[in-house]
Formats: sequence, structure tokens, C-alpha cells
Amino acid sequence: MKFLCTRCDEVMKLAGAQAGDDTVGLTFSCPKCGGSFAMLTNPAETTLVKGLGVQVGGRSEPAPLMEVIQSSVARDTENQITWDPGAETRLANVPPFARPMARKAIERFAESKGIRTITAAVMDEARALM
Ligand SMILES: [Zn+2]
Repeated sequence: MKFLCTRCDEVMKLAGAQAGDDTVGLTFSCPKCGGSFAMLTNPAETTLVKGLGVQVGGRSEPAPLMEVIQSSVARDTENQITWDPGAETRLANVPPFARPMARKAIERFAESKGIRTITAAVMDEARALM
């Protein structure tokens, strides 16, 4: 993903990133004209970004945006619960509009049980209580 300055067609550089509870805010600036803009994710997008755990575009230019998002998110969620691949696959079957809620509910359940890694079995357990 690249953002271009609409005035001079330059690739905008990431100038800052901030993670809140439910949002990730990113600031971009144009190296040529100094123009800037900010981007703010909504809670659903933030969950998506946090859930992706992927690096987009490898090591090439532009500055690895997803990594920046991830590291800023990581700082915010150091005690974060992890999802094993099986559980992620199961969660992907949940309709998109309900996914953030399901994720939060299952994470809350896991937290209350002191579980750090969510597996399909943990999801079963959580579902039995819901
Ligand atoms: Zn510009």
C-alpha cells in the first residue's frame, strides 16, 4: 500500500504512528511539498489490523507500513493473548460484522481463565458458556 501526494505525486512518508485502545492513528507527510494527512482506523479495522499479524510488501520501499502499525500496536498490547492458526481459521468462519465481537468475547473468556493462547478447544469452551 502506498499513499501519494495529490499535489506532486510523491510517495508520502510515514511521519508518526499512535495506537489507542480501539484505534490506530497514522500521520503521513510529503517529502517534496511538506503536505500531510492523518489516517485513523475505526475499532473494526483496528481489530483487523491487529489480527492480521502479517507483513505487507516485504522489505522494499515504502517504509513497511504494516510493521509500523504492528510495533505500535504491540506496545499497546504487550499482554495480548495469541491465537493459534487453528483458532484463527475458526474465527475466519464468523461473519465479518460479528468477528470483532466474537474475538473480544473469546479473549475476555481466555483472560478470565488465565489462558494466553487461544486454540480451537478454548473456543469450544468459550462457546459452551455463551
Ligand atoms: Zn507533495
